[in-house]
Amino acid sequence: MIPFHFVNVHTLCSGEFSRMLRPQEIITKRSETVGGSGIREIFELAATMKDPINLSIGQPDFDVPDPVKVAAVEAIHAGHNKYTPTNGAPEIRKAVAASLKRDLGWDIESDPDLEVTVTSGTSGGLVLTYLTFTEPGDEMIIPDPYFVIYPAAATIAGSKAVYCDTYPDFRMTASRIEPLITDKTKFVLINSPSNPCGVTLTEDEVREIVDLCKAKNVLLISDEIYDQFTFSDGRDSQGRYPSPARFSKDLIVLRGFSKSYAMTGWRLGYAAGPKDLIDAMSRMQQFTFVCAPSMVQYAGATALDTDISKHVADYERKRDMVVEALTPYASMGTPTGAFYAFIEVPERLGMTGMEFVQKAVERNLLMIPGGAFSRRDTHFRMSYATTDEKLRQGLDIIIDLLKS
Ligand code: PMP
Repeated sequence: MIPFHFVNVHTLCSGEFSRMLRPQEIITKRSETVGGSGIREIFELAATMKDPINLSIGQPDFDVPDPVKVAAVEAIHAGHNKYTPTNGAPEIRKAVAASLKRDLGWDIESDPDLEVTVTSGTSGGLVLTYLTFTEPGDEMIIPDPYFVIYPAAATIAGSKAVYCDTYPDFRMTASRIEPLITDKTKFVLINSPSNPCGVTLTEDEVREIVDLCKAKNVLLISDEIYDQFTFSDGRDSQGRYPSPARFSKDLIVLRGFSKSYAMTGWRLGYAAGPKDLIDAMSRMQQFTFVCAPSMVQYAGATALDTDISKHVADYERKRDMVVEALTPYASMGTPTGAFYAFIEVPERLGMTGMEFVQKAVERNLLMIPGGAFSRRDTHFRMSYATTDEKLRQGLDIIIDLLKS
């Protein structure tokens, strides 16, 4: 099969196909190294399945709230279709500032040391942090298990991901991070609630990480894309999402709209933190993503005023269903956020995560092997962002497989 972009170029130029360029000579190692995740393998398998029970999905099963859809359409009709300032249109910047003030007490509008930039998804914000804060050879500390972009972005930036092994309880604590800090460490990246584990760090745990990063003079980056999906047992003493940003302003907060408002395809997020650091990220954005999609920015301002607590309560109830169903058969903690459970394949089954998932696929159930998110493949990730009926069917199959 000939990659279509070569076909296009050559047929346009000469009227016939003759290949001059050898892919192996022009494709960088960096692009070959990224993307080899087990997720793609599973999606290829999924394409062969008929109406699978799909517990592999990393996005909410509810739709974008209606007022947000209306705001996007209105923005298009109002002519908000052009480039916006790199940092974001004034309307969404104002809405984000209000949201951060309400939630974290950060006053972006009046504190000259704080700034926010609107990004093309949280992924866009993540890539900017790697490009802005690491030189080739520099290190950052990421959790293992990790969200798939964390090590890949290091490859893209030419820097090195150092893995913080968080097995078996998946808590990325200061005591696990500290021994990994070297003079090459530029930042520590935490993700709470986490993908793929659904673990939410406590107030004390995030405070200790803030203190450690301060003492060691390394930047802390907090990926808070699931902040709103923090369940009652993951909240702090005042019933809030435990963010390290309550203890310091000397860190970068990355948040997004993909999960909270089901806007995964709309590509919107933001990065907030010290002004000089955010300005540097914004310069990087100017010459890469340019700006987040304009009409989506206007819709995002509306999204921040939308209450999604009923969806969060629904996922907490589904979380309870999962824990109740599976704890008799598998070793798993209780996820306190996001919409994932990361479950160990019992040793007596003698199967890797991939082998277990393949068995599930034979029963028409789709999940993701732990090896897609980790250097080891001993677990599987199930998402419970689905209907009760599909979840029940999926759980019955998992129980059958765990018992076998
Ligand atoms: N961080 C984490 C932990 C995620 O799970 C995801 C999406 N799966 C992202 C960042 C990226 O989200 P987006 O780019 O859609 O905002």
